[in-house]
Amino acid sequence: PGVIERQQQPRRMHVAGKVPLGLRRKGLRVVVTGGAGFVGSHLVDRLMARGDSVIVVDNFFTGRKENVMHHFGNPNFELIRHDVVEPLLLEVDQIYHLACPASPVHYKFNPVKTIKTNVVGTLNMLGLAKRVGARFLLTSTSEVYGDPLQHPQVETYWGNVNPIGVRSCYDEGKRTAETLTMDYHRGAQVEVRIARIFNTYGPRMCIDDGRVVSNFVAQALRKEPMTVYGDGKQTRSFQYVSDLVEGLMRLMEGEHVGPFNLGNPGEFTMLELAKVVQDTIDPNARIEFRENTADDPHKRKPDISKAKELLGWEPKIPLRQGLPLMVSDFRKRIFGDRSSTDT
Ligand code: NAD
Ligand code: UDP
Ligand code: UDP
Repeated sequence: PGVIERQQQPRRMHVAGKVPLGLRRKGLRVVVTGGAGFVGSHLVDRLMARGDSVIVVDNFFTGRKENVMHHFGNPNFELIRHDVVEPLLLEVDQIYHLACPASPVHYKFNPVKTIKTNVVGTLNMLGLAKRVGARFLLTSTSEVYGDPLQHPQVETYWGNVNPIGVRSCYDEGKRTAETLTMDYHRGAQVEVRIARIFNTYGPRMCIDDGRVVSNFVAQALRKEPMTVYGDGKQTRSFQYVSDLVEGLMRLMEGEHVGPFNLGNPGEFTMLELAKVVQDTIDPNARIEFRENTADDPHKRKPDISKAKELLGWEPKIPLRQGLPLMVSDFRKRIFGDRSSTDT
């Protein structure tokens, strides 16, 4: 008598965890940082369609209001112009943390800002998750494997990253973001999820963001030569955006922390990609070789056994099927409607 057992402070029950996707009660409050960007805006569409209340937090560095404008006026939708490097107070159940420039051109533009976004921005969102008991999902990247010495890449591979190179602000930034995520999980019992995303393409990508798929598609449409860097024999594996969004949601709703590779194992050299773009847009599209950028990884292909087994997920849309969907979006944005009858 008189002895009061010291109890752990009760954490808010997380309703999302146990119930299969699609059967859950509606109305979770979800924040999507970077939600006005390419991947984020597609994720927001799915969450809105499910009946969640969605708050997009974005500083519009590479994101655009146009990507989420169709939700304006919906009381379940809120858009906040905010930089995640600054603290933020919100009451939410889930945090999808995407805020970070993803294209090499964008993340090299201000490398120190990229590092701050990855480290301080992720710290702030983890602090928020801890305070309100929200589940936190980090969108990490295949770049944590660097120029990989193992092929295909399995989640247990620790990577081959140059810590002082021009890509390090992104690669090492994301690696630190993963570390922070695991330390909040172990140290503060925050429920976390980590996705390692491989090259993803689709509608709403920035037209001139310098990534290879957007470059080739825009160049072929504008009748400019497709710029192949180096000898074009380096490989990437390209995932259509709806497959990624499905994977991210399964990961968030599932019981496993990760990290999980989310990518399409279909591997292409840049010359093969150029050929697919020719077949899709213009068989006469020309190729021009350019000097490659520093530290460019030679090959990349995800081993997705873990996601298949534990999330029941695998991509459904091969490159030749996904590319035309992106091309029609680019066509509209580059030429307006007058091109809709073009080939
Ligand atoms: P994106 O550039 O279209 O989207 C990033 C969004 O984050 C933009 O809306 C941008 O304005 C916002 N943002 C950037 N810095 C911010 C800051 N400090 N505060 C608030 N908002 C900020 O890129 P994306 O392709 O949609 O990538 C989304 C996430 O997925 C990123 O974290 C990226 O690292 C990761 N990822 C993407 C790919 C891919 O191929 N698309 C591959 C691996 C990882
Ligand atoms: N933070 C935030 N929103 C919150 C709670 C915390 O932005 O709702 C930020 C906070 O400003 C801090 C970071 O998250 O910079 C880490 O917070 P935590 O409480 O883990 O650490 P501490 O504040 O003790 O450094
Ligand atoms: N790349 C290319 N032409 C371009 C843009 C990129 O050949 O116009 C190459 C680049 O050198 C790299 C690959 O395409 O080998 C993928 O580059 P991207 O910037 O899309 O993504 P990441 O390097 O981050 O995988």
